[in-house]
Amino acid sequence: MLSVILHQVHTRRKALALTFDDGPNPIYTRGILDLLKEVSGKATFFMIGEQMENYPDVVRAVDSEGHEIGNHTYSHPYLSRISKDECKLELKRTEILIHKLTGKRPRVFRPPYLEYNEDVVAVSESAGYRMIGALNLDAQDWGQPGAGHIFDKSLECVRNGSILMFHDGYGDRSQTMQAVGWLLQILSTKGYQLVTVSELLASEQMRGED
Ligand SMILES: [Zn+2]
Repeated sequence: MLSVILHQVHTRRKALALTFDDGPNPIYTRGILDLLKEVSGKATFFMIGEQMENYPDVVRAVDSEGHEIGNHTYSHPYLSRISKDECKLELKRTEILIHKLTGKRPRVFRPPYLEYNEDVVAVSESAGYRMIGALNLDAQDWGQPGAGHIFDKSLECVRNGSILMFHDGYGDRSQTMQAVGWLLQILSTKGYQLVTVSELLASEQMRGED
């Protein structure tokens, strides 16, 4: 039985997945790419279609550096407030854009505001997506609570198979940049591998396997 939205992956691998929402953004997405490069880490970027139209070069840079691009809808609506057909279109438009810019089809999806209903689940499943949440929701990096807070609350959630969420789009993300910089240093010191969500999923073990 798969859980509807995945906040972590059950794995023996000493690896976790950092994810970045609401980009691409010409400043912060590129900043995150530089930070990741320093530690040879990979991450997953849940992009908004509208933003992809504005910054296609950033989309290509993320892809060419080996990171994963996930679907975060086209216009970032509350999906439970729109019709099932509109929801389908939100995912499809962004999927087409990702394919156009990278030649790849996205396999992971994160609903805006982590908000969904049965229709959203059905649309996501029939399009072949895994719906991805995150463990470190208390970090609340979107609200700019201070880099120290973002770092502390994220570090509390570090273990094998964790999925951590940050934002590289919408507004000033300098606190996130600082916190992620610190986190990457400590994670590489502790020997964690930073992998894409799909790579983490590939190491997923069924309950009872260990
Ligand atoms: Zn979002």
